[in-house]
Amino acid sequence: MAHKIIAERCNACGECEVECPNEAISPKGQVFWIDPTKCKDCVGTFDAPQCVDICKSNCIVPA
Ligand code: SF4
Ligand code: SF4
Repeated sequence: MAHKIIAERCNACGECEVECPNEAISPKGQVFWIDPTKCKDCVGTFDAPQCVDICKSNCIVPA
């Protein structure tokens, strides 16, 4: 599995990008995007998805 960003709600603050231990998050167009091949749901690194915790727009959800 992986997580994804709901583009319509993303304000492109970029705070999630630096939190990802797998460098799965990057800018794409006007918003940010999670590479599903890199996102490991933070399993083995953190107890919870770091991007979900940091996103104030609540736009990161399980894919
Ligand atoms: S933290 Fe949320 S609002 Fe900010 S860039 Fe990431 S997905 Fe978008
Ligand atoms: S769930 Fe973890 S590994 Fe996946 S994009 Fe978010 S911070 Fe990165």
